[in-house]
Amino acid sequence: MNRIEAEERNRFLARLAGDFSIPVPVLRSIRGAFHEEMAHGLAGKPSSLRMIPSFVTRPTGGEKGRFLALDLGGTNCRVLGVELDGRGGASITAASRFVVPAALMHGPGGVLFDFLAGSVHSFFREHRREKPPERVLAFTFSFPVEQRSVSSGTLLGWTKAFTASGVEGEDVAVLLSAALERRGIGFVRVAALTNDTVGTLLAGGYADPSCDMGVILGTGTNACYPERPGRIRKLPGSRGGSEMIVNMEWGNFNRLEANRFDDLLDAASPNPGRQRLEKMVSGMYLGEIARLAVREMMEKGLLFPGTDGSAFSEPYSLATESLTLPARGDAAGLDSLGPGSASAEDRAAVREIGRLVAGRSARLAGSAIAAVLTWMDPGLEKDHAVAIDGALFEHNPGYRADIMETLDSLLGDRAAAVRLVLTKDGSGIGAAIAGAVAVQAAPEAG
Ligand code: ADP
Ligand code: MG
Repeated sequence: MNRIEAEERNRFLARLAGDFSIPVPVLRSIRGAFHEEMAHGLAGKPSSLRMIPSFVTRPTGGEKGRFLALDLGGTNCRVLGVELDGRGGASITAASRFVVPAALMHGPGGVLFDFLAGSVHSFFREHRREKPPERVLAFTFSFPVEQRSVSSGTLLGWTKAFTASGVEGEDVAVLLSAALERRGIGFVRVAALTNDTVGTLLAGGYADPSCDMGVILGTGTNACYPERPGRIRKLPGSRGGSEMIVNMEWGNFNRLEANRFDDLLDAASPNPGRQRLEKMVSGMYLGEIARLAVREMMEKGLLFPGTDGSAFSEPYSLATESLTLPARGDAAGLDSLGPGSASAEDRAAVREIGRLVAGRSARLAGSAIAAVLTWMDPGLEKDHAVAIDGALFEHNPGYRADIMETLDSLLGDRAAAVRLVLTKDGSGIGAAIAGAVAVQAAPEAG
């Protein structure tokens, strides 16, 4: 690459930085737009934020017992035995993990639920002594569900990579119960149906009363917080109680300035126009946004000039984690291009693209967190712990710092009152807490 080409490449990267930058005034306007969408969603008016009441409150820390949790995320399915000690302590006593075969995400829903029931069955076989005490199962189902009670709700629409038929519009707790019955383990009662976001807040709040937000930054992204019942205007009648956790389904927030890569990704996705925030923030999509930018650079002859140009032509072939872990040596699988075909400059350019895409993700997540905190506490008079689960946050060096920087620029001094707490296994432990709350509410059915 000669000097002219190098200058052209640098100019391209500088423009790309502009395409992925979000000036502070825009971050501020996102907060305002969030508040409007939240208000509309809570009132039952059209909104990109569904604001779904979960029928659970935060725990007191006194919830107690042994529970089963079944956690279907975007990538894995896990079955856990969870013990709550009634003093804010929760532990996982046994765990089995299963990879959901891609074919099941797209086939008949009955087969997917048979797989879930089979996973519970395998868990029992693997951990035989778990069988007698745990009959109460809490189901963490990380997709948008319109809850009708703490233990029932219908799937509004699949997100992430799922398209299984015959599930949208159905009660997923009923589908799971039927599958457990088919599997011969109908004695297991599905006592709670929760979202991973709600589970994360419940897990964070079990030991820490200042925890008032749950956030997922994994395959997808979402958040929840405790709302005053009087503000949930779409919920008929006053339900009493001092709060109810609301699952925002914030991945669908759409008042954002998208760039050409976002639009290409969205148009080629199974759900165009939907989950626009998720498509700019979450782990499922960041690698693909970067791949589209890499392809554009290649088409302009600014990357891998000596290769045949076929690299990175497969959609979703660039893994998000490879972008954020350049320290591993082979940033973004460049060695697959053939030995020596990616120069040091090529590698640096791909790293830069990864940095831009992941940095924008963290700033968007930060502005969304700031929006929810200021909705609950406009003057930020209280301390707030934000429980966060997901590999994008956990394993991505620099991501937390980028969120904190955004909170600093949006909240000023009061950003110091916000703690971001990694809450691993929130979706399992939190589901068990939801199970405990549900059993307390309806013990006779246990
Ligand atoms: P789930 O959301 O299905 O419960 P995880 O929390 O494990 O699953 O998140 C998986 C997502 O996180 C994947 O999209 C993956 O690309 C992304 N991811 C995993 N490790 C990293 C990393 N080091 N940096 C960025 N993203 C990562
Ligand atoms: Mg998860």
